[in-house]
Amino acid sequence: MKNPDKLIAINSVHDILPVYRQTPVGLLLEYHNLNRPYESFDKAELLIGMCMDNRKHLHMPDNFAFIIRSGGANLRYSEFKVSFAIGVGQVRHIALIGHNNCGMVNLISRQKEFIEGLVSSAGWERDRAEEHFEHFAPMFEIGSEIDFILSETKRLRLRYPKIQIAPLFYLVDDNKLYFIKES
Ligand SMILES: [Zn+2]
Repeated sequence: MKNPDKLIAINSVHDILPVYRQTPVGLLLEYHNLNRPYESFDKAELLIGMCMDNRKHLHMPDNFAFIIRSGGANLRYSEFKVSFAIGVGQVRHIALIGHNNCGMVNLISRQKEFIEGLVSSAGWERDRAEEHFEHFAPMFEIGSEIDFILSETKRLRLRYPKIQIAPLFYLVDDNKLYFIKES
């Protein structure tokens, strides 16, 4: 794991950054990391953007959050859904959660596997599969898990200025959530 010094562990409520205490982001961290007993919710309080990766499972109560899952927690192509959660779902807080060993880093290294898998498993023509990869890989490549979440956080703060957006990280080694330090 590169850049672990950019992560802030949350082992007690005191580790939750003050700006997120008493907010749905702080609650998520308490539920997931600190085994806070579940309250009941009749509407969503939070929007979570997280990767589609299968290794992650969040501990939180029913009805607490909308979740948009996409490769690398990239919400650039999910903006209508973000707007829906805010405009209709009335959430005012977003937790953007990256994770280590993300498949959306260095996609080019998966090119051969990607194309061959589509040909053999999905019945695609090789040319179509190659074109598909070449067209979309640059859009979905995130470069670095931590830096991507920080830049996506900045982008979303500009786009939705009254919404609180927290850059978080999920370590697949311990299944805990961390803050990503913002400089
Ligand atoms: Zn991922």
